[in-house]
This record gives sequence, C-alpha cells and structure tokens, in this order.
Amino acid sequence: MRWQLGRRSDNVEDRRGGGVSAPVVGGGIGAVVLSLIVALLGGDPSVIWQQSGSQSNSPVTQPRTTNSSAQDQMADFVSVVLADTEDTWSQYFRQNGSNYVEPKLVLYTDAVRSACGYARSAVGPFYCPADQKVYIDLSFYRDLKNKFQAPGDFAQAYVIAHEVGHHVQNLLGISDQVRTLQSRVDKVEANQLSVRLELQADCFAGVWANRAQRSRQVLEEGDIEEALNAASSIGDDRLQQQSKGYVVPESFTHGSSAQRVRWFKQGIQTGDPKLCNTFAPSNP
Ligand SMILES: [Zn+2]
Repeated sequence: MRWQLGRRSDNVEDRRGGGVSAPVVGGGIGAVVLSLIVALLGGDPSVIWQQSGSQSNSPVTQPRTTNSSAQDQMADFVSVVLADTEDTWSQYFRQNGSNYVEPKLVLYTDAVRSACGYARSAVGPFYCPADQKVYIDLSFYRDLKNKFQAPGDFAQAYVIAHEVGHHVQNLLGISDQVRTLQSRVDKVEANQLSVRLELQADCFAGVWANRAQRSRQVLEEGDIEEALNAASSIGDDRLQQQSKGYVVPESFTHGSSAQRVRWFKQGIQTGDPKLCNTFAPSNP
C-alpha cells in the first residue's frame, strides 16, 4: 500500500505504555447487559466486559516503557489509514447530505478501559459505540502475520477499515436497528443478525478501499489479495480461539471465511455502501 505520503489523522489517542488496572471479576447484571449490547454491536471478536462498581485498583499490567521504532512506524501507518477513512467517509456522508463524525482511534498495550468496559488485548481490535472509538493493541498485527498467516500492510489497513465500518453502521443507525431486532428474536436469529452486521462492516471496508484507490491510488500489486487473505484468515471463530480464558458469547460470530471474502469483494468492486445490504433476505 502506498501510504507514506498520506495525511496523518488528528484522532489517534496514544495510550501505549500506560498501565491499566483490572476490575475485580464480576461486574453485576449491568455489566452483563452492557457486554451483550457491545457484542451485538459487533465488538471484535469476542469480549467479556467487566465493568464493575467495585473496582480494584491493584495494577495487573506493568506499563511497557519501550516502543520500538517498528511500533512507531506501525502507529504512523494506522494514523494514515484512519485519516484516509475519514476523507472517504466524510465525502460520502457529505454527498448524502449528512455529516460524518470522525471516530477516535486508541492505541494501547495489554489492556484498556473504554466506555464499553475493560478489555485485554487478546480480544483483538474492537469498536466501542458508546464512546465512538476504535481500540487496537498493535501487537495484533504481529499475530495477524504470524498466527493467522495474513501478512502485509493492506491486510492491516483492512482491519482498521473494518472497525471504522462499525462506526459507520453506528452513525447510520444500523447498529441500533439491529440491536432492537435482536431483542425480539431467538438466540439463533440474533446470532445471524450479528453475522450480517459483521459482514456489512467487511463490505464497508471494501467500499473504503475502492474509494481510496479512486481518489488517491493507494493500492499496490498484491494488496487486494492481502486483504482477502486476512478476511479469510480471521473468519469464523479463529480469533476467539486465542482469547481462551474469556467468556465467549455464543451469540457472537463474524461469519465464515467465504462470506467475509465475498462481502469485502462486494464493497471493493462497487464502492457503494448501499450495495452492502447483508440484511437482504437472500443474503448473506
Ligand atoms: Zn467486527
């Protein structure tokens, strides 16, 4: 991906190296409800949210004091990708007579506290609708390359674009509609709605790639394949496997690898969010 000359975003919040204390296990019924809401809104990939009124302040993570230059370059890269999604979605919202509220992106190490609760990096990157922020521990990219065999900068960009896709769903009111629907149906159907929401975020990531390419020629040879490979590699519950030790809501999944690839392709080929209707009866 051609990114070095791209604009940097003003919306990156760098919390790396800042230790976060873990809350005491058992967040009460409120936290359970909240965790469900977050999961249903497409938190990635499976998260237990422990937000408790009686939090312990004993630190469980030591701050990492060293950020290698590789990590700094990675942070720089993430900032450019985020800025590119801002340009793309701002333009789209403007053309449709509305305003794009830019999300923040939080870089952290090991653990982080969001408006959706406390999360450890094993959960992978996620979007919290309550504070409209994307959270990522850059060590995820190492896992993407080594554990999931999905190397390449465009694969990394796809991850950001997918999370931003959840933000777009939030702004468009899609997430709310899905949550309302989910409260009225059984678990199986609610699960299917979650999958459709995830696949639409994949499609929106593809829309971003299409438009970024048209406006700024960001793609290099092999980039599309990298992203498709990543979409395929992190399909199903592959990510959930590594978050062992966490409660994995049964109602939550991202869809099969084939579905993820199909919808990312749909987005990148059409560049039109309106053609990302993963909720149509005949889909996904
Ligand atoms: Zn997602």
